[in-house]
Amino acid sequence: MVQTGEPAWRGHQIAEAVYRQWVTEISEITTLPKSLREKLVANDWQVGRPSIAQTFRSVDGTERYLVRCGTETVETVWMPEGDDGESGDSTEDSGPVEPAQGEAVQPPMLRAPSFRLLSGERVGDHKSRQTPESGPSELKRATICVSSQIGCAVNCQFCLTAKLGLQRNLTAGEIAGQVVSVLARHNVEVGRDRLNLVFMGMGEPFLNYDNFMSAARLLDNDVGLRPQRMTVSTSGIVPGIERFAQEPPEIRPKLAISLNAPNDAIRTEIMPINSKWNIEAVIDAVRKLKLRPRERITFEYVLLGGVTDHPEHAKEVARLVRRTGLPAKVNLIAWNPGPGIPYKMPTPESVEAFRASFVQAGISAFLRKPRGRDIYAACGQLKRTVEE
Ligand code: SF4
Repeated sequence: MVQTGEPAWRGHQIAEAVYRQWVTEISEITTLPKSLREKLVANDWQVGRPSIAQTFRSVDGTERYLVRCGTETVETVWMPEGDDGESGDSTEDSGPVEPAQGEAVQPPMLRAPSFRLLSGERVGDHKSRQTPESGPSELKRATICVSSQIGCAVNCQFCLTAKLGLQRNLTAGEIAGQVVSVLARHNVEVGRDRLNLVFMGMGEPFLNYDNFMSAARLLDNDVGLRPQRMTVSTSGIVPGIERFAQEPPEIRPKLAISLNAPNDAIRTEIMPINSKWNIEAVIDAVRKLKLRPRERITFEYVLLGGVTDHPEHAKEVARLVRRTGLPAKVNLIAWNPGPGIPYKMPTPESVEAFRASFVQAGISAFLRKPRGRDIYAACGQLKRTVEE
C-alpha cells in the first residue's frame, strides 16, 4: 500500500480481507474505497491464496492436496481428527497456555496485523467461506500438515520427498497460503474449531528459516492460529535449532526433532545429515530451548523394520531423551512404504514392544496414526504422486 502511495493501515485492511475473510479478489474487499480497488486492479495487483490443483481423498478421510505455487505444486495434508502427533505435548493439556480438553477454545488474541503483499500467490479456486464438505456449524478437530520447500535437500533414506531433491524454498505467503486454502476448503472457524498445524510436509523448515518463521507469525497475527498449536519438525539443523531457541517462547511453534535412530552409526546411514550435525550436537542445541509451561519437546522416531526397531534401540533412545534434561515425549511412526525405498514396515508386535519399553522407562510415547497411506499422504510419502 505504501508503494502505491496509500497509508500503511490500508494494508491491514487487505490482510483482514485475505487472511480472515478469505477474499480472493480485490474487487471484493469492501473496506477499501471503490476508487482504490479499481486503481489496484488496473495496476495488476492481485490478492488471494495458492489454488488447490488436485485433491486425493483417503478412505480414512485424510486429504492430500497438490497446491499450486507459481508454476509448481507442493503438498499439503488435511487430517480430520489429527494423527495423535500432538498427544501429550501440552496441546491437549489444561492451564493458562492451552485450554483443557473439552473446554471452549479461546478466541484468537487480537493484534495489529503485520501484512505485506506477497508475490507468487495465486488467486484461490475456492471462493470465500464456501465449503464442499460440511456446513459451518459442525465442530471440527483436525491437523494440517504444511510444506516449507518444494522437494528437500536433506536426503533421508526412508523418505519419498528426498527423491525430488530441493527445487526451491517457498515464500512465507506460499507456506501460510497452503493453510488458508485448506481452512477455506473446509470452512474452518478459526478460534472455535480445534486445529493443529504441523510443519512436517515437504522440505526442511530450518533450511528456509526466515520464510518459515514469517509464515508462522503471519498465521498467528493475521489468520489467528495460535503458535502453541503449531509444531515444526527438523531433521536436526543445529544452527536453525539455535536460532529457534532465541525466539520468544510465546511466538514460536513447538519443536519436534526427527531423531529416527538410536545412535550415530544408524542415524548417519538413514539420515546423512547426521554426519554434519550428530546426535550429541542436536541434543546440545535442543537444551538451549526455553520451554513454555507444560510444553514438551517431541522426538519423532520412524520405526524401520529390522533397522531401527530392535528392543535395545528403545533403551538407547530413552537414554538420549533423558539426556536433554527437558520435558520430552516420543512420537513413534511405523514407517510408511514408498516405491523405490528399500525398507520394511515394522511388525505390529515390535511397534508395541517399542512403545511399552518407553512406558517402562517412564517416558511418554505415542504411536502416530498412519493417515492417508493409501493416497501417499502419510509421513515421508509426499512426492507429488498423482496415481491413486
Ligand atoms: S524426512 Fe523431512 S527432512 Fe528428511 S528428506 Fe524427507 S522431507 Fe526432507
